[in-house]
Formats: sequence, C-alpha cells, structure tokens
Amino acid sequence: LKPAILIVEDESAIADTIAYALKTEGFNPLHLTLGAQAIDCVRSQPFALVILDIGLPDLSGFEVCRQMKTFQDIPVLFLTARNDEVDKIVGLELGGDDYMTKPFSPRELVARVRAILRRSERHRTQPRSRFEHDVAARRIRFCGHLLELTRYEYLLLRTLLAQPDRIYTRAQLMEQVWSDAEESTDRTVDAHIKTVRAKLRAIDPENDPISTHRGVGYSLSLATGQEVT
Ligand code: CA
Repeated sequence: LKPAILIVEDESAIADTIAYALKTEGFNPLHLTLGAQAIDCVRSQPFALVILDIGLPDLSGFEVCRQMKTFQDIPVLFLTARNDEVDKIVGLELGGDDYMTKPFSPRELVARVRAILRRSERHRTQPRSRFEHDVAARRIRFCGHLLELTRYEYLLLRTLLAQPDRIYTRAQLMEQVWSDAEESTDRTVDAHIKTVRAKLRAIDPENDPISTHRGVGYSLSLATGQEVT
C-alpha cells in the first residue's frame, strides 16, 4: 500500500513538482490548494503526512496545522518562502515535524518525507493490534476469535478500526455506517456500540477497546480502551 501524502499548496507549479517526485518514489499524493479543504480532507481520510505551505489563500499553514492536530496527530512538513516564517516554525517546537525553505529540490523533499515517516513510525507506541481485519472476506478477528457481526456491527467496527484513536461523533458514524439506511438516530449508534462491546467483552472481559467520550462520541484503541469523561 502506498503511503498517502496530502500536499496543501496554492502554487500549482510547486505542487505539481512535489506530486511528481512523490509519485515517482512510490507515494500516493493528493493536492489541495485551500487550508479549509485540507482540514476537512484529513478529517475524512487517512494520510501518512501533510506537506503544508504556510502562505495559503484562506488560512495560514500554522492555523491549518493547529486545527488538524486537535483531532489527529499527523506529521507535518511545512513549506515556507520567508525567513520570519522560519523563526515562527522553529518556535513551534516541532515534535515529529519539519520544514523546508523554498526553493528546494524535490529529491531533498522526498528524503525529508521519508525521514519524518520513519521517525513517526518509531515514536508511535504501536501496540500489537488485537484486531485482524480480513477486508476481502469482511471478517474481523479479536484476540484470535472470529467475531460474528451483523452487517451494521461490522461496518461500525470497520469504521472505528480504520482510524484507531480517532474520536468519531455519533453523526460521523451515522454518515459512514448508516449512509444507506432509511433512518438512524444517535440511539442507533449507541445500541450498536453496545452490542459490539458485548461481543468483544465475551472474548476479553477486562479490556474494552472502545472508549466512550461523553458528549462527543466514540473511539477505538488497538491497545486497551477506557472510559473518558
Ligand atoms: Ca503560497
């Protein structure tokens, strides 16, 4: 599977160069020109990394990064054309992130992308997943046990598993799971979470991987879950 990279850059010549270099090196780039689009996009589909220009037409790259990081810990490679921006970036105390000053060589950029991905891979305390998802067969195993799931239970668990630790609101789950249903309510989501939980608890009564975020929604942890209030 090729790692998906989101490029947020309003200068199409630069974006095209980056996209081409990434594609050649085995990545799967997607290009957007607006910060707001980028935030929505990261919310709805998984990316390994975001390449983020600071001077965007709508929001600054700093603001885009801040908003993205409120819901996902995604690595960011900033692109900047100005020295005063560099000062500001350095002041952010970038954890797994990095920046490049324009103009840059596409090869150098790809090398940085690889380095960031390696670093974030290492830093991610990746617990061995207790789930095995056979996408083709639409089957999920938990701690080695095959789960007997109804259609909507499967779709619900599949959605939560696609982005571990992401907090989904009930509305987001309804949209992803019950998109073809005649009608669904918050209670539909809660009821299905309950039955999925019961099936997981039957296998491991101690560690519920699904967390309830009161007033917000649900998330799933590959390690162990807990009640978050
Ligand atoms: Ca720009």
